[in-house]
Amino acid sequence: MASTLRVAIIGGGIGGLTLALALRERGLTADVYEQTPQLTEIGAAVALTANATRELERIGLGDRLAAASTTPEELIHRHWRDGARIAAHPVHSGSWYRNRFQAPVHGIRRAQLQVILSSALAAGTLHLGYRLVGLTERPDGLVLGFSAGDTAHADVVVGADGIRSTVRRWVAGDDHEIYSGTSGFRGIVPVDRLPGLPDPQSIQFWTGPGAHLLHYPIGPTGDSVNFLAVVEGPRTWARTDGWVDDVAADEPLRAFHGWHPAATAMIGAVTHAVRWGLFAVRPLPRWHRGRAVLLGDAAHAMLPHQGQGANTTVEDAFTLAALLAQVPDTIELPSAFATYQALRRGRTRRIQRLSWLTNALLHLPDGAAADERNRALARLPQEIAWIHEHDVQATLRRRTERLARSGPAPTT
Ligand SMILES: Cc1cc2nc3c(=O)[nH]c(=O)nc-3n(C[C@H](O)[C@H](O)[C@H](O)COP(=O)(O)OP(=O)(O)OC[C@H]3O[C@@H](n4cnc5c(N)ncnc54)[C@H](O)[C@@H]3O)c2cc1C
Repeated sequence: MASTLRVAIIGGGIGGLTLALALRERGLTADVYEQTPQLTEIGAAVALTANATRELERIGLGDRLAAASTTPEELIHRHWRDGARIAAHPVHSGSWYRNRFQAPVHGIRRAQLQVILSSALAAGTLHLGYRLVGLTERPDGLVLGFSAGDTAHADVVVGADGIRSTVRRWVAGDDHEIYSGTSGFRGIVPVDRLPGLPDPQSIQFWTGPGAHLLHYPIGPTGDSVNFLAVVEGPRTWARTDGWVDDVAADEPLRAFHGWHPAATAMIGAVTHAVRWGLFAVRPLPRWHRGRAVLLGDAAHAMLPHQGQGANTTVEDAFTLAALLAQVPDTIELPSAFATYQALRRGRTRRIQRLSWLTNALLHLPDGAAADERNRALARLPQEIAWIHEHDVQATLRRRTERLARSGPAPTT
């Protein structure tokens, strides 16, 4: 029986917009409530990988994404000071990545991605300027309270409201964010302003003592690079109202003093310096309570060093949509949510851990441990293939087949 659930999605970020599209594909309608009066980009750009793009291609967005983005030629690791290649692996060259994972990598501006996702929504789905401030459970559903005094009713509320999620507080209580003790400077720089940059069309990690620099090409022609320059510290994050802080204009360059001129040219090209505190969300015991469930950063925000926050959020959205579409009645919701959590929590936890460890490995000082890491980087594509080869639909099919063979699997 087709589901007739009324789904309210809190947050119009990558997760909320993708979930609305995934629900639509399954015949369900949803309302997306976004606090900002316009869709605003968080950060500059994002690298979408096969575990997300295979789903976005499947629902027909492949051509638009490809037209707006660039696929990096190679994945290269470099030494911080002399720029020597430590390891290099093909990505676009020889169509290696697509052949291996049957879906592409896209370096894309976030604003562009939001336009592509939001313009594919059914008219009237997105409600801008609605900040959720309260949730009340009633026998017939949930009542959503918004900051301007409006209310709405829903059978299901999905918290896609990011790392500082209001819905998470309702589901799991306070205090789940954790500051990593690291921070980053980010920016977009036209390639023609970086004449000394080797391989600008590749995704590159420059690794050094206590810091690293990641960059990759973006846009339809790869004419710009998006970078994230990460440093240790500050030890504590003093701001309680956000994770972005203005810093002195020369602060990023001082942190990368002595680095290769191509690295400092990129970091120095950004005139308005801003420091991003890098946070994660501690593993939650539960992702759902009653009729509310969490998705994306609200459930499992992770450090960005595997480039998987947005990608795992897209996986969540398609998994949750498939399970909600099978719910004939709200009585079945707890079981659908438990299955969703069982399918998603272990995988996202594993990527969270790896992202944390990656930061430490990228920040090793020159020496024996760095040499050992450098040797291990030769096997990187094999080591992280499990992230990129994940196939949401195949995972759901396997679960259905397992159920058909042996009854329900454990859900915790
Ligand atoms: C420096 C950095 C680089 C990154 N690079 C990558 C990358 O290359 N690849 C990748 O996959 N991931 C990357 N990420 C992670 C990625 O940005 C996030 O994981 C992703 O955006 C999560 O999407 P989301 O929809 O869950 O949350 P968000 O994108 O945070 O969206 C949440 C939305 O909810 C809205 N909202 C919040 N509270 C309310 C409320 N009370 N009522 C209504 N609306 C509300 C917000 O305004 C926002 O629009 C990076 C992160 C950082 C910090």
